[in-house]
Amino acid sequence: MTRPDYIQKKVDELSGEGRIAKEGYEERELKKTDQGRKFREHLQKDEQKAMDKHGEAVCYGCLKKDFALSTLLYCCSDCMRKRGTVALYAIVTRKPAEQVCDFCGRWQKPFDTFQINCSMCNTCMHRVHVFHSEYKKAGGRKSNPFVRRMRKKYGKDYKKILGNGSRTIGI
Ligand SMILES: [Zn+2]
Ligand SMILES: [Zn+2]
Repeated sequence: MTRPDYIQKKVDELSGEGRIAKEGYEERELKKTDQGRKFREHLQKDEQKAMDKHGEAVCYGCLKKDFALSTLLYCCSDCMRKRGTVALYAIVTRKPAEQVCDFCGRWQKPFDTFQINCSMCNTCMHRVHVFHSEYKKAGGRKSNPFVRRMRKKYGKDYKKILGNGSRTIGI
């Protein structure tokens, strides 16, 4: 699709802002003209071609098109596979330790969770907020099954007991 000059000019100005800012601007500009509105309607009518990635954000939690805020969350590989890539902006990093998934709430093995950048609707944001406060109440990382097992076996000084030999050699 070739862009009208006045849009191209603005897009060039915004080129530092990234893909999302550019697409959002194009989408808003399309709605301003009759021709643009017709073109947009034609596209949105077709389910296969409907533009989900533009102005209206797609919630990564429930895939609803709604008011959404973007944020960083931890997501396990199973949950990512279920949701696909429509609402996924970027994978930031892969967690090398045990981590609880913000979507299914289960502890996952090392290297099985990813920190992702995505948009969420108000309902899903609230759900994650409630989950996080419960996670904090349960003791945060101390609620990890590995840590719980070690504390049960060796008591609360499990770190000293397990780490003692290697740390004090030669000192
Ligand atoms: Zn949602
Ligand atoms: Zn999960």
